[in-house]
Amino acid sequence: MSKQRLTRQQSRRIANQRDNLANSQENSELENGLVIARFGNQADVETDRGEVFRCHLRRNLGDIVTGDKVVLERGSESAVVASVKPAKNRLQRPDSYGKLKAVAANIDQMVIVIAPQPQAHANLIDRYLVVAENLGVTPLLLVNKCDLLSPENRGHINKIKEQYDALGYRLLEVSAKTAAGQAQLKENLAAKTSVFVGQSGVGKSSLLQKLLPHETLKIGELSEQVNKGKHTTTHAALYHFQNGGNCIDSPGIREFGLWHFTREQVVNGFSELREIAQHCKFRDCTHKNDPGCAIRLALEENGISEARYLSFLRIIDTLDDVQIKAPGY
Ligand code: GDP
Ligand code: ZN
Repeated sequence: MSKQRLTRQQSRRIANQRDNLANSQENSELENGLVIARFGNQADVETDRGEVFRCHLRRNLGDIVTGDKVVLERGSESAVVASVKPAKNRLQRPDSYGKLKAVAANIDQMVIVIAPQPQAHANLIDRYLVVAENLGVTPLLLVNKCDLLSPENRGHINKIKEQYDALGYRLLEVSAKTAAGQAQLKENLAAKTSVFVGQSGVGKSSLLQKLLPHETLKIGELSEQVNKGKHTTTHAALYHFQNGGNCIDSPGIREFGLWHFTREQVVNGFSELREIAQHCKFRDCTHKNDPGCAIRLALEENGISEARYLSFLRIIDTLDDVQIKAPGY
């Protein structure tokens, strides 16, 4: 800041601004709210009483995203987001410049959707689990299209179920087509904020349409209103399930990668390796052929699953490839 003295005109302007601010605060009310959508420099904020206000954002509030808990300042004419509360977590993905950007905040549960078709890859499940574990989000493995389970593909799905059940993860079978498993799924979505992730074609849109029958219309209306006819589905929006619980959804959330993770974070994302890795002889152990690697030892003694270990190595190797492109990670 310059130490230059303010001119009289400048001082007067600052005094006026201060008075205006005081006046606006006198006539305004502060209320807690939840960001349910973000557009440019505006956000839709829902108050505890269920009213939704389109708000401008005060400057210097940082990157506010859907799911953020905020304080709303309501005047007679308009509402502004006055402050943001610290978030328990922020789901981030790189933007087109490779810079990490938050896309959603305060997520409790990651619903990892798999299906008999397209066939589920354990490696992809593990990638999502790494993100969930690092964010402190509870994963729920959801086998959709259970109406398509047959003696031929049952074995593959059962193997996946056994593997993740043994690691202590919750699993549900459901069908977006028939009603199978939907009641149980609704129970598992109540009282928390979930995101749905998984490979394209497993039925995420179909499931969300079943779970949010009245919301599709709202999505269309909202994006049209804001973008004059253009769809803004890349923006994350928060929806309420009928039986309680929320969902934050956008195409960017449904299919994200994890190339910005470090090796330590990947180890942390494999719940059964996390503790064992503490006993490796070297702190920078790559867990491949390093002497004194506790993970390799556990593998030789059948203490951990070989499939998971190989999946772990695949993830680590892809991180090495992209790290060159993304300095700083
Ligand atoms: P997304 O890419 O994960 O959003 O998947 P979609 O919801 O677009 O579904 C992909 C395809 O799978 C569509 O043709 C759906 O009709 C179909 N589909 C989704 N859920 C089910 C299901 O439970 N059973 C069956 N048989 N087909 C489903
Ligand atoms: Zn090791």
